[in-house]
Amino acid sequence: MTASTATALDLVRYIDASPTPWHCARTSADRLLAAGFTALDESAPFAIAPGEGGFYLRDGLVVAFRLGTRPPVESGFRLLGAHTDSPNLRLKPQPEVVKAGFRTLGVEVYGGALYYTWLDRDLGLAGRVFLKTETPFPESRLIHLARPLCRIPSLAIHLNREVNTDGLKLNAQQHLAPMFAMPAAKGDETSALKRLLADAAEVEPERLISWDLALVDTQPSTLGGLDDAFVFAPRLDNQASCHAALSALIAAPASEATQVVALYDHEEVGSLTTAGADGPLVELLLKRLALGTPWGGPLLDTAPARHAPLLDTARHAPLLSESEAFQRAIAKSWHISADMAHAVHPNFEDRHEPQHKPVLNGGPVIKSNSNQRYATNGETAALFESLCLAAEVPVQKFVTRTDLACGTTIGPIAGGKLGVRTVDVGNPMLSMHSAREQCGAHDVSRMISVMTRFLGV
Ligand SMILES: [Zn+2]
Repeated sequence: MTASTATALDLVRYIDASPTPWHCARTSADRLLAAGFTALDESAPFAIAPGEGGFYLRDGLVVAFRLGTRPPVESGFRLLGAHTDSPNLRLKPQPEVVKAGFRTLGVEVYGGALYYTWLDRDLGLAGRVFLKTETPFPESRLIHLARPLCRIPSLAIHLNREVNTDGLKLNAQQHLAPMFAMPAAKGDETSALKRLLADAAEVEPERLISWDLALVDTQPSTLGGLDDAFVFAPRLDNQASCHAALSALIAAPASEATQVVALYDHEEVGSLTTAGADGPLVELLLKRLALGTPWGGPLLDTAPARHAPLLDTARHAPLLSESEAFQRAIAKSWHISADMAHAVHPNFEDRHEPQHKPVLNGGPVIKSNSNQRYATNGETAALFESLCLAAEVPVQKFVTRTDLACGTTIGPIAGGKLGVRTVDVGNPMLSMHSAREQCGAHDVSRMISVMTRFLGV
């Protein structure tokens, strides 16, 4: 097996262990722990030294970092961003409905899902359940029911003769509820779903209060195509980028700059949430690190300005304020925002800008949009291309057709919020937002080597 196939198989394992954003954060945490990173509590002091790594989780967000050998005010941050969430179907709070002699489950659409790709699949359930405790604060448990529990059947062609010529029209409220069971026997009043979830969480049904649950495909991810050139898997957008950023952080040696990986939740629904790229948590962490406590801070200014409002009287040198430390650290920082890119589709080639047709296994893609739906500019594109050159990795470029609306990602949001120079990149893929997607197996290790190089500059 080649090294690039082994890395693609590692991605397959990462995705299969991460059916939801909350699982993805947990899978990432397990890998960080195994690599010697310290699990940190945001509400307590961080006990880690320069050169060491730490991380914390909040819902579907994981933020991991390795402190630089120099404080951020001198060497800045090297930030890698991606997102843990993917479009899917999620259970409503009271989902059980009897319709036409079946027990069905009411679902909401999360993000821009391609509805038809969820039909005729053997679906399980995954997410987190919240349990009663002695206090009002619930206990949370992750569950993953990976067996075929429900199915959204398509309508027979005999009852919808025009479907192949006129297209399939699905109403999200009416047509997406999966069949879950036959009606309960008379006298059996306990919710079947509640019993199932309580069993999965290994508690009595009375302890179960609420949940965040999604339908998940039970078909495992795999390499495919002749010579295993492809990865067939759910959630490649954007767990493939999470896997790349995390693998790079784990592989990179400590350097002068502080290396940070932020895997955000809620990109598919706009990012303005506590765990999203438009939330405050990563900015708070960077400000905290910029103050320099692990390097012996609060930092003394080694290059004092003429006005020095805060003076450390013991050492007669000015102290940096938090905002000045942060501003100076950000001025020395760079950010790679990684989200999957549209590869050219051989059956729909005309959907691509003729001069910009990234192919699977052609290397990472730099994504540009002059209207700033992607945060890339000439300077940050040049940085990424130079990193690819140094890593001996081919690079491709994407811009959307001028007559098509461009997608967006966390780059403009996190970059705009933090004021850090940002490039938007991603590995090329097909079937984006489908329940099952496809990317190139050989691109997986290429993105990791470029990101690893970035963390060291
Ligand atoms: Zn995405």
